Amino acid sequence: MKVFVFDLDDTLYLERDYVFSGFQAVAEKIEEKSGLSSELVYEELIQGFNNGLRAKNFDRLLEKNPEIQKVLSLEEIIHHYRSHFPRILLLQKAEHVLKCLKKEGHFLGLITDGYLKTQILKVESLKITSYFDKIVFTDQWGKTYWKPHERAFSEIERAWRVKGQDLVYIGDNPEKDFFPAKKRFWKTIRLRIPGQLHYTDEPKSKEYAPDEECRSFTELEEILFK
Ligand SMILES: [Mg+2]
Repeated sequence: MKVFVFDLDDTLYLERDYVFSGFQAVAEKIEEKSGLSSELVYEELIQGFNNGLRAKNFDRLLEKNPEIQKVLSLEEIIHHYRSHFPRILLLQKAEHVLKCLKKEGHFLGLITDGYLKTQILKVESLKITSYFDKIVFTDQWGKTYWKPHERAFSEIERAWRVKGQDLVYIGDNPEKDFFPAKKRFWKTIRLRIPGQLHYTDEPKSKEYAPDEECRSFTELEEILFK
């Protein structure tokens, strides 16, 4: 028996899809409140994202369309984005791999950062709760405990009383995913798929580098079941 622990964003589904889903929800809200066409608002948000804008996307929207501020504040828009029910899908073959691991009798865990309510809604939308024996939302303890903090990893070890190489962490982000797992001697695998927000990022040192890298769930399946 082993414990396989997955990251959520950009590991089980593409985070870009969440962003687009949120833009759509915000655009619809803006149309409802101001009468401004949701298609135009959505288009503008997508254009910013496609031009590489990764922060303050709504600030920019309000700067360009000051009339929106009369009916919706920036805080309200951000709240609506984070609390919308997302339309997102699991990556190809992700569900198949989760099912195979379960069938082989392994334990499955999920460690995810991000605002608690937002992450809960993603898990609900993806309908993956039943696959996981334990889901750790790091935000339940506050932002200090988001990865690369090790608390979630030690929590998983405690839950199953396992250590080291019997644990495998599968994630996408070299800035925070592999460092805490490697520090505790877990095996680490990076899933690297075009379209991920950190697709081109490289680890800053060997402590942050994954043990293995794969380009799809098909490749991941080969690594896990070899
Ligand atoms: Mg991630």
